[in-house]
Amino acid sequence: MSHVFPRHTKIIPPVAVKGEGIYIFDSNGNKYLDGSGGAAVSCLGHSDPDVIAAIKKQVDQLAFAHTGFLSSEPAESLADRLIAHAPEGIERVYFVSGGSEAVESALKLARQYMIETGQPQRTRFISRRQSYHGNTLGALGTGGNEWRREPFAPVMVSASHISPCYEYRLRRDDETQEDYGLRAANELEAELLRQGPENVIGFIAEPVVGATAGAVPAVPGYFKRIREICDQYGILLILDEVMCGMGRTGTLFACEQDGISPDMITIAKGLGAGYQPIGAMLCSGKIYKAIENGSGFFQHGHTYVGHPTACAAADAVVKKLTDGGLAARSAQMGEKLMTALTDAFGQHPQIGDIRGRGMFRGLEIVEDRETKAPFAPEKGIAAKLKKHAFANGLICYPMGGTIDGRQGDHVMLAPPFIITDDQIDELVAKLSKSI
Ligand code: PMP
Repeated sequence: MSHVFPRHTKIIPPVAVKGEGIYIFDSNGNKYLDGSGGAAVSCLGHSDPDVIAAIKKQVDQLAFAHTGFLSSEPAESLADRLIAHAPEGIERVYFVSGGSEAVESALKLARQYMIETGQPQRTRFISRRQSYHGNTLGALGTGGNEWRREPFAPVMVSASHISPCYEYRLRRDDETQEDYGLRAANELEAELLRQGPENVIGFIAEPVVGATAGAVPAVPGYFKRIREICDQYGILLILDEVMCGMGRTGTLFACEQDGISPDMITIAKGLGAGYQPIGAMLCSGKIYKAIENGSGFFQHGHTYVGHPTACAAADAVVKKLTDGGLAARSAQMGEKLMTALTDAFGQHPQIGDIRGRGMFRGLEIVEDRETKAPFAPEKGIAAKLKKHAFANGLICYPMGGTIDGRQGDHVMLAPPFIITDDQIDELVAKLSKSI
């Protein structure tokens, strides 16, 4: 009997024993094509020699030093590397152990910024319905997923929610893409006016929505308008790139493609590429200076902040993504994946939409392609697809969810950027068989 607490007590998973490139092997000898990089984590595949060497070297030299006393060479190097590629105005990096901690750090720094700049009445956050920003109480509190929030609502940060920017389901037929983008963004202004903008700390959103919607980018112009509204009302814009960052969409930071600079960015998943647990919160010079000129102390922290071994692994990962050209490969192979998906499913009666950027793609599963009518939730399409795909040796990321009252199913694909042409064909063939 296993003593590990599983995710789902009725589904005991097989035991993974080996990873090689885009494949994972279990103890029964089964081979799985990692078509979603776990959950958009494994951007380099599973046996990258450079990352493994960087970890071994660092462990031999210095595995851990507490940042209460010392910084470390890998943390300094990784921060320099990230800032060199970050959007304009982003100047500092705070390292943590994962995505939820990164979001938690952003929320707390945002609140502290308001206190240190003489705006202590600002206590609220706004995010979007159906969003996911992590599972700790702060991150869960800003998330917009009702069933996740409900049991914990009495004990968590409260936030209000606007509609996501989700063209496939929410753009009206009589609306241009641009008009829809403005309408969706203007919901933020309406919500700010409802709350009293002077009471709000910030707005948090994913530039390309990952697991909860299946790789959905905002329409062009949406985030520019969001940035304008944040500036007009003095609230902070936090972009959650935990899933879509680190080359996943074809650029190191996803928001580069929206042409805006946020006040804070959260990253994780692809940063450690699965080799080490690590996340980071990046913030603007303006925010850092407010702390520097004020109390001088960020009232936050975890034991494993800036963990040298995790930073050494991530430094090797980011070097490969940038200097090694793998983020660009994500863009290039992502187009090939999109073409293969369109060839296989473009006319499929149960696929309503194929979308995404780079190595981050999603398919909308529908009962009727013409009307876009989704399957009834009781049919549990996403769960069935996950099961069939796994039996066919494919790890992909199907999910069911409600977008503004409309239930739908989708599957997210986020394979490692090292995937080859033949492996793309193999992935699509396995997915096709499973669907
Ligand atoms: N934000 C987003 C957008 C995510 O997708 C996730 C994880 N799925 C998180 C935050 C939380 O990250 P973690 O699971 O590493 O805590």
